[in-house]
Amino acid sequence: MQVYKFGGASIATPERMEALLPVIKEAKQPVILVVSAFGKTTNALELIVDNACKGDKQNALKLVHELEQQHVDYAKTILDEEHYKMAHAALNEYFTELQWAIDGADAARYDHSYDQVVCMGEILSTRIFSYYLAQRGFSHEWIDVRDVLRTDDTYRDAKVDWEYSQKQAQDIIGRQLKAGKSIVTQGFIGATADNTSVTLGREGSDYTAALLAAMLGLEAVTIWKDVPGLLNADPKEFKGTVKIEAITYHEVIEMAYYGAQVIHPKTIKPLQNNNIPLYVKCFLDKNLKGTVIQNEVNSIFYPPLIVLKKDQVLLQVTTRDFSFITEDNLSSIYSILHDLKIKVNLIQNAAISFVACVDRKEDKVQELMDILSKDYKVFRNEDVQLLTIRHYTPEILFDLTKSRYILLEQKTRQTVQVIMK
Ligand code: ASP
Ligand code: MG
Repeated sequence: MQVYKFGGASIATPERMEALLPVIKEAKQPVILVVSAFGKTTNALELIVDNACKGDKQNALKLVHELEQQHVDYAKTILDEEHYKMAHAALNEYFTELQWAIDGADAARYDHSYDQVVCMGEILSTRIFSYYLAQRGFSHEWIDVRDVLRTDDTYRDAKVDWEYSQKQAQDIIGRQLKAGKSIVTQGFIGATADNTSVTLGREGSDYTAALLAAMLGLEAVTIWKDVPGLLNADPKEFKGTVKIEAITYHEVIEMAYYGAQVIHPKTIKPLQNNNIPLYVKCFLDKNLKGTVIQNEVNSIFYPPLIVLKKDQVLLQVTTRDFSFITEDNLSSIYSILHDLKIKVNLIQNAAISFVACVDRKEDKVQELMDILSKDYKVFRNEDVQLLTIRHYTPEILFDLTKSRYILLEQKTRQTVQVIMK
């Protein structure tokens, strides 16, 4: 048995959803289908919660109305009358829930408000998907994954309570699978012990798929994408990308960590820990071979794996009185970063200074600058990019940096990282 994960792009239009049917029917049954919100819905919901928290509830409700219309139109296109009726009733209920979430939105609890609003995207899409599959005679059960995945209350990045969730997964999902029933459920969301909705971090549906497979001891996870498999670089950024046939968990977790948008970084650990292979396949042509990610692969030859992280800021932190940067300074700087939940993408320290490359999230970076400025001189370099190449060659490094202004370069035998403009 396995888990299939369908992202927002794979169900973005009714035509695309219809095209998934042969893919699903060909799966060994029963199968768990973990599904994202329709393409762009999560972004739309983010805008709605922003408006609601800014106090512009009027605009928030206008945007909700548009979103509702899109979902209703989608359902109308893909469902026959009987199923549309049921879907419509469900959508009505969910949009009422969404309005409550907007009424309750509060800037002082932004992350909490965010999760109550944004979690609805997956609920909506999976309901429509489920009615469509029922209409096409695919026997399954729709499950609200918030009854399965229990988390803490770190809103927008909730941590899963493994023990409790595994028990729930076995009780709720495992039982259905044993009875031969497939499952349709949501990626990306969960709930706290008091049933408050949470999200697991943007693009978190991959992670949900991995969690469920691991908790239930399933054979494999397949992520269905609109590309032929895992590529060595983002084809939107680089020419001549190549597809990778097989790659280890280790390589992929490194790529994801450096910022490759391929697979959610948290996905790999539960799979690696339980030795469950992950396939990346193309829903546009299910006969393409795709990529397998597993513990060991036969070929140890990899093409250069290239990751470009844009919108970076390079901070330089220097002591004011020429005293050395010591472990004490580093530890206090790190605890400030930790408190602000800022992830450092690259660091380097020298005698009296410390350099860190972070994502350009304006309010956070400014807050960090303000705190650090009390004790240090702080400079920032705007709008830099962080290029990471694993398995680099001098030629490829030269080629990708030749017309750039390089601010910093770090090399190990396997990996080179360059901060450049
Ligand atoms: N819908 C969520 C997002 O867009 C989760 C996902 O797609 O994996 O981030
Ligand atoms: Mg997605």
